[in-house]
Amino acid sequence: ISEVDLINKDSTVRVAVRIRPQNSRELIDMCRICTTVTFGEPQIFLGSDKAFTFDYVFDTNSNQCDIYSECVERLVDSTLHGYNATVLAYGQTGSGKTYTMGTGFDHESESSESVLLGIIPRAVRHIFSGIEHLEGSGSSSELPAAGGSPQFSLAVQYIELYNEEIFDLLDPYNKNSNFKIHEDASGQITISGASIKPIFQPQDALKYLQQGALARTTASTKMNDQSSRSHALFTIFVRRQRLLAPNDNVSDNDLETLTSKFHFVDLAGSERLKRTQATGERAREGISINCGLLALGNCISALGDKSKRALHVPYRDSKLTRLLQDSLGGNSQTLMIACVSPSDRDFMETLNTLKYANRAR
Ligand code: ADP
Ligand code: MG
Repeated sequence: ISEVDLINKDSTVRVAVRIRPQNSRELIDMCRICTTVTFGEPQIFLGSDKAFTFDYVFDTNSNQCDIYSECVERLVDSTLHGYNATVLAYGQTGSGKTYTMGTGFDHESESSESVLLGIIPRAVRHIFSGIEHLEGSGSSSELPAAGGSPQFSLAVQYIELYNEEIFDLLDPYNKNSNFKIHEDASGQITISGASIKPIFQPQDALKYLQQGALARTTASTKMNDQSSRSHALFTIFVRRQRLLAPNDNVSDNDLETLTSKFHFVDLAGSERLKRTQATGERAREGISINCGLLALGNCISALGDKSKRALHVPYRDSKLTRLLQDSLGGNSQTLMIACVSPSDRDFMETLNTLKYANRAR
């Protein structure tokens, strides 16, 4: 019975599809475009007869700001009010996951190319401006202001899952640490041994994002030198405290504390092994990567099945889903962004991605 999770019927898993523009290689090779977006509808055609409808569909000409304002902004607001949120980027290597998420964020180019910023740096700025607004101006005291105005504290964590093993991207030399996933009495998931860094301004978060991106394990495949065979999870922890009644003697009872977290997940490439001709060690990586993606698909699909009140969500089938357990379903908001290539040579991978994303609805 403990394996049976009660599902909030209103739990929201939304799915967006983003089609990246053709790259110069595809233009030189004169690849045909095999994707079409139905005008005015979140529907994508692959070829002439395979149609899929999602919550959002972004065609090749959409920009970073469109993605953020149409489907991520609202999740940031809910995080500031105590709800967990998760954004996941899914798709084959080279489809735009890292670009969309902003996981490979380059600190140096922040000012010069801000229109190109991905989701994470935008969310970080938005969280800080949202907090400033909610705290009200001029309150810089350590204690929460009396009479309602909440005070926030923020921290970040950046880990990588590779071969079902956890790596701390903010402490990459900590190789010996035995990371363990814990679930407390209230169902909150934590990782013992992984560092959590407090942040006080957007630049702090962006510094850690960049630090982690540099530390991220990558192994080249025949498909893409930059290919990442691992899942990267960047998490922002939000702690909101409010003094319930104006009072000189502050006791714990007078403090209302809400905690929430926002996960940003840049998933491993979803391509099939035979296409990258991976063998040996690389093939083994592929198997456990797929274990995470498979479990994720099963969990999200179970959560999206609104016809059932209670059902088994197989969170325990992978470290990825175990880590996300308290942030998928329940009162949390989840957005899956399926990234696809428009070119005909990626037709089969794009079809697989759209099928995977379709299960989540
Ligand atoms: P993935 O992380 O899925 O392997 P990347 O995000 O690294 O893919 O994208 C592969 C390449 O395509 C990168 O050079 C990236 O800058 C470019 N790219 C991806 N999506 C877009 C987009 N929407 N607009 C412009 N360039 C893009
Ligand atoms: Mg990537």
